[in-house]
Amino acid sequence: VTSHEPDLGLLLDVDGPIASPVTRTIAIPSISEDLVELANTGTPVAFNTGRSDAFLRDEIAGALIAAGLSDTARVFGVCEKGAVWFRITPQGVGPVSVDESLTLPSDFRRAVDALMQARFADAMFFDHTKRAMLSVEQRIDIESDDYLAVQPVFEAQVLDLCRDFDLGTVWRNIERPASDGSIRFRIDPTIISTDIESIRSGKDLGAERALRLLAEAGPLPRTWRTVGDSRTDYAMADWLHHNGYAVAHVDVRPRDGMPVKPYDILTATDDLTNDAAAAEFLRRWVGTAEGESLVGAS
Ligand SMILES: [Mg+2]
Repeated sequence: VTSHEPDLGLLLDVDGPIASPVTRTIAIPSISEDLVELANTGTPVAFNTGRSDAFLRDEIAGALIAAGLSDTARVFGVCEKGAVWFRITPQGVGPVSVDESLTLPSDFRRAVDALMQARFADAMFFDHTKRAMLSVEQRIDIESDDYLAVQPVFEAQVLDLCRDFDLGTVWRNIERPASDGSIRFRIDPTIISTDIESIRSGKDLGAERALRLLAEAGPLPRTWRTVGDSRTDYAMADWLHHNGYAVAHVDVRPRDGMPVKPYDILTATDDLTNDAAAAEFLRRWVGTAEGESLVGAS
């Protein structure tokens, strides 16, 4: 356990900056090596993703262990937008915790699966590895345009199912409260999936969860870097800034447009994007940990 306060902490989105958007794995070896170097020398690291724990176990944890993750490293996975979490150690993924207050009822889960199977199976598949939220994804053997054409039809039918189960839900600009007036869930369309989740879940909740887990395992740094490829990933830095930490956000896909924020936004050199951009920053931070001053080093 690290006894002194580390210089830097990292909150990392996974798809894009760490796992290649093409291979969906860690495709750049220096990413695992540098993450392990940072974690082994005291930098607290948390992955903050909408993915399931199964994905992190299969695609991330093994790579870190192979790169020499130590017993003293503080590394956590926070999955399903804050609803599921665990520690990653040299022995693998530790016990998985689930916030039951964010979990969709299992009878509703089965009903969505049945709806998908009955009417949308040629365009979508159901992600059975999710524990709290529910994701129905585009089949990789169909064209994006064909998927996006049926996605709203599916979502409208899911909204009707929410009413049948008395789950207050918001979808786009449509609010359907439960009989007690509450809205506890949202249907969130992405370009490759429909996510159905608690309205409390998100990268901000993931950040809050990550800091609590890391704090239980040792002292927290004052300075953080967050890394992501989507606009929603800024919520990690928003949360840290709001809670008094010094933070800068690394946007590895700035072409999507960068918002105005009260903290620094960093981008890679030479138009590097996605995992190549994150790899550049991780290498820089390893150098920082080896003695350069963090001041001025982005
Ligand atoms: Mg991402």
